[in-house]
Amino acid sequence: MILIVDDKPENIFSLRQLLTINGFEVDTALSGEEALKKILKNDYTLIILDVQMPGMDGFEVAETLSGFNKAKDIPIIFLSAVNTEKKFITKGYNSGGMDYVVKPVDVDILLLKIKTFHRLYEQTVELNKVQQNLRDEIEIRKDAEAKKDEFISIASHELKTPLTSIKAYLQILRRSVGDDNKKFLEDFIGRSQVQVNKLNDLVTDLLDVSKIESGKLKFNKKVFNFKMLLHNTIDIIRQTNEDSNIVITGDEDVDVFADEMRIEQVLINYLTNAIKYSPDNKEVHVSTYVQDHYLFVKVKDFGIGIPPEKKDQIFAKFYRAEDNSTRFQGLGIGLYICSEIIKRHEGTYGVESELGKGSVFYFSLPVAQKAHE
Ligand code: ADP
Repeated sequence: MILIVDDKPENIFSLRQLLTINGFEVDTALSGEEALKKILKNDYTLIILDVQMPGMDGFEVAETLSGFNKAKDIPIIFLSAVNTEKKFITKGYNSGGMDYVVKPVDVDILLLKIKTFHRLYEQTVELNKVQQNLRDEIEIRKDAEAKKDEFISIASHELKTPLTSIKAYLQILRRSVGDDNKKFLEDFIGRSQVQVNKLNDLVTDLLDVSKIESGKLKFNKKVFNFKMLLHNTIDIIRQTNEDSNIVITGDEDVDVFADEMRIEQVLINYLTNAIKYSPDNKEVHVSTYVQDHYLFVKVKDFGIGIPPEKKDQIFAKFYRAEDNSTRFQGLGIGLYICSEIIKRHEGTYGVESELGKGSVFYFSLPVAQKAHE
């Protein structure tokens, strides 16, 4: 929209007609003061400003505008009948004008100028937008880079820990070769196996993240009974977490169409987190129910909980609630992988939590259509 500022309505009238005929939207102001008010409120692409006006003159308006962030880039064309001397023209340019047109105006030339400035302004706005986007992008990338560096340091540490244990166990075993103490050997081989499994899980998770990033996480979906998977998974978790007490509080018997291994991975992740982040309460409640053709699975713990402001980031890549990061081991990628798996199954996921009281992590999956439906 172009703003015409002139104290004489008859001048405005003819200019307005010319611009409207040529497809421009036009607004008008009858004084410098009115113009300033309108410019602060609306967005203009060009201002055509009469120089001689009672009260605030055109130069003063332009000077004031140059101090407003919002208006400093809007091109101004001064129109003047009287002040045709060079010093006034110079003043016009110095006060922020882009052009100084002396009356009587050649309308064709004025129109060409208006079109050019209009186009220039639109380009400037576009350029500013591109520049801002680039700045935002740089910030986002810097942030991601910092997160990645931090992640590499955590990951190296997490990988190193089981590796150091395995090294030590192997040394002990080597020294004990030839000893007759079978129980002792079995014990250390068992301990090594636990650490190798840990290492294997970490590397598998890392590979999953890299597959997600490159769009190569593939699913092998088929119809299977969810109840059976849930019970089998809980059995596995019970075997490795003997002191935990996993209780099934609601149990739907439905089929889902999904990648069974990947859904098991999500369940294992939710369950092991529920146990890991509940050092003082070993009870975990698991329930399932169907709502609107979706199977919902809830894993409730009575552990440390999550502060409300961190709840939304919990499923983000590399995110760990930092207050706990030294207390509990982890890479901060388990829930990210879960969220990607569930998303790719057209399901939903989330968490409800109260700090110090516990959390409920849930996900949902579409229930498989029966063959006759
Ligand atoms: P990791 O456990 O390896 O750090 P996850 O992606 O599984 O990574 O979890 C991300 C973060 O979410 C954890 O670091 C922890 O701060 C928080 N979190 C996950 N599960 C729970 C839970 N059951 N109770 C409290 N906090 C949790």
